[in-house]
Amino acid sequence: MDLPADLAVLSGDGLYLWAPRGAAGSWGLANCLLITSGTDAALIDTPYDERMTRALIAAAAHVLPERAEVRTVVNTHANGDHCFGNVFFPGAEIISTDASLERHCREITPQQMQQLVHGGALGGPLGWYARDRFGAYDYTSVTVVPPTVTFSGSYHFQVGDTDVRLLEVGPAHTAGDLVAHLPQHGVVVAGDVIFAGDHPAHWEGPLAEVVRASEEILALDPQWVVPGHGEVIGQDGVRAYIGYLRDLEGEIKERYGRGLTAYEAAADILATGFHPHLGAPERVVMLTFIEYHHLGGTGEPLEMVELAGHAARWAYDQRHLPADA
Ligand SMILES: [Zn+2]
Repeated sequence: MDLPADLAVLSGDGLYLWAPRGAAGSWGLANCLLITSGTDAALIDTPYDERMTRALIAAAAHVLPERAEVRTVVNTHANGDHCFGNVFFPGAEIISTDASLERHCREITPQQMQQLVHGGALGGPLGWYARDRFGAYDYTSVTVVPPTVTFSGSYHFQVGDTDVRLLEVGPAHTAGDLVAHLPQHGVVVAGDVIFAGDHPAHWEGPLAEVVRASEEILALDPQWVVPGHGEVIGQDGVRAYIGYLRDLEGEIKERYGRGLTAYEAAADILATGFHPHLGAPERVVMLTFIEYHHLGGTGEPLEMVELAGHAARWAYDQRHLPADA
């Protein structure tokens, strides 16, 4: 895991990106955007554990003016890799959607993650997967701090002279997704509605809703889009991503129509080499289960651990196959 010591300048007028990177297909390495203007500062999304958040705070100290502090935190959604770091910004106002606040009660807690990843009790493919993909994180000092200000629809605030417009676009990646539009900079922070460089993970779906949310981002006519994970992209990148989502939706529906199970459909799609340049192909398994769930039209939402279990099973079975199998 590469925790940057410095923020990257996204705009010379006070926008800085903290962009941790790891191996292709990594989990938990989310982009965070620092907005500064005068002595005011806001942060869009907080990192996954204390070590990461301390690294971000140290990097931010290099660019924040004296006496400036992060007074406002925005959580694009309630997944831990975008909000577990909230606890390390005591006193900050934390803004998210009403639906994300509700979701905070249903997400996996840091204590549960610590037990799953480091407890040693979880066997089988899921235990292997949890340790392999999340073993670098330490959740012991994290307590969940939910949003203090919530909204539905849209919410505007200022960071000094910078206008920040939050727009609810969920349900898509999760029930409560928001994107942050900075119109003076031509920037949209997309949260996990958009992934770049890897197959996406989406928990809510269906894929058509992720397409709709991505089109809402395009409608803001941004010059730059900061995805939840991966490199900053432009509008062409968003269009390519929408193409990916539509491709996958078509592949899944075709196999659903043929009567394959969700797992069979996902394994078959991956066996055909679906977008093989992207990391974390096992996420296609999760996406297929969610799409089948919506195609079936009934039942409670699928739980994260259950979805991860299906993905882990596929990834576990690939371990000893030749890379080009
Ligand atoms: Zn994420």
